[in-house]
Amino acid sequence: MANDENFRDSIGTVNEEGKRSWIFPKKPEGRYYEYRKWVSYVLLLFLFLSPFLKVNGHQFLMFNVLERRFNIFGLPFWPQDFHLFVISMITGVIFVALFTVAYGRIFCGWMCPQTIFMEMVFRRIEYWIDGDRGAQIRLSKQAWNANKIWKRSLKWTVFFVISFLIANVFLAYLIGSDRLMQYVTDGPLQHMSTLISLVIFTAVFYFVFAWFREQVCIIACPYGRMQGVLLDNKSIVVAYDYKRGEKEKGRKKFRKNEDRQDLGYGDCIDCFQCVHVCPTGIDIRNGTQLECVNCTACIDACDHIMEKVNLPKGLIRYASEDNISKKATFKFSARLKGYTAVLVVLTGILTGMLFLRNDLEANILRLPGQLYERKEGNIISNVYTYKLVNKTSATISNVHFELMSHPGTITLVTHSNFEVPAEELAEGTLFIEINNAALNGDKDKLIIGVYSGDKLIETTNVRFLAPRSYN
Ligand code: SF4
Ligand code: SF4
Repeated sequence: MANDENFRDSIGTVNEEGKRSWIFPKKPEGRYYEYRKWVSYVLLLFLFLSPFLKVNGHQFLMFNVLERRFNIFGLPFWPQDFHLFVISMITGVIFVALFTVAYGRIFCGWMCPQTIFMEMVFRRIEYWIDGDRGAQIRLSKQAWNANKIWKRSLKWTVFFVISFLIANVFLAYLIGSDRLMQYVTDGPLQHMSTLISLVIFTAVFYFVFAWFREQVCIIACPYGRMQGVLLDNKSIVVAYDYKRGEKEKGRKKFRKNEDRQDLGYGDCIDCFQCVHVCPTGIDIRNGTQLECVNCTACIDACDHIMEKVNLPKGLIRYASEDNISKKATFKFSARLKGYTAVLVVLTGILTGMLFLRNDLEANILRLPGQLYERKEGNIISNVYTYKLVNKTSATISNVHFELMSHPGTITLVTHSNFEVPAEELAEGTLFIEINNAALNGDKDKLIIGVYSGDKLIETTNVRFLAPRSYN
């Protein structure tokens, strides 16, 4: 329960002198930790394999920001598909927001790559090398000797190697795994700028996991900062049941053969196990705090203690404030309904757009600054540039244009039929010639068909300029 004594207006990992308080969390053990381990194995596998998996020849996940090419679940998105990418991102953000309103920071504790790597990879290596909380505190305080030098060098080397691996996978997401493998076989020195990026990424990951740690969630993560506005009394979070833990006379150390019920003491035996396991260094008994990433370590620790003292488990559990204070059950609030409605609409739009998306995108534009040209035999000619984007992994061959709305001819400047290579762009210039008698105005809308052989693969519209007096 928050009171004047435990109220604070600074983050939990900064001490009174404004210095960083290093956290030495106790190794968690218990039901939730086991579940989280399994979830983390699946997610780590997904994270490491995704850039190397292919669907129809496309990398499963790729975020090539520099070339503005993205693959999401094997679907390639081009700069021309940017609207689809933006809608996917908005849908993702609303999905996470909706999830947060209902289930708190479940994403942070179970799925966030920062938590997964920190708690399930780096922290476990730390436990393996340095030992549990007590041993880690002793090691940090002790003077440098052979044992400390050995343990520190081993830990930092292993951390560096893993950071280097993560940086490589990160690069595979950014530039594509094929290109990464190509650079590796060419020799990294042949691609200095990529090598420098790799070194910088490695240094950043090393800094984050070896030193910055929980500060990412507390200070740097924008999603973490949004919690204050997303959570309400109905959101399910990792919470301490202060009604049960404090009762009339508050928490008290456990004494054998004492009837706490009779004496009016709460079920919390003030053992501090929930505080010692917390990787963000907070005391969950002070209520929901911005540092809490809902990692469930305190649930496991408290359940273990409750078992030992023969009290029911769940003093710390997934619950909402209303759930604890009013014994209210979960309700689908107006805010949740609103978010769900927006999410459904956006998902519908996105699905529709994905299904309607063509394999080939055609853009034909009139050459800027050019009017029309009159030719012999009442023929009017307009000049255009075209851009064709092949979004598939197969070459589209024998491509040509045909006028579908008017009688007339389309002539390409350099060639007639051509091909658009897989995932490539073809561009050039073309002339459209139409007899003026066939035109209805000075700015007719033409429909142009893009064909591959006899097959119509895309249609597009352009305006055709003609002299006014001819109308
Ligand atoms: S308070 Fe509990 S759930 Fe929150 S970060 Fe600490 S241990 Fe994890
Ligand atoms: S682990 Fe449970 S019993 Fe121990 S201090 Fe925390 S809430 Fe109280």
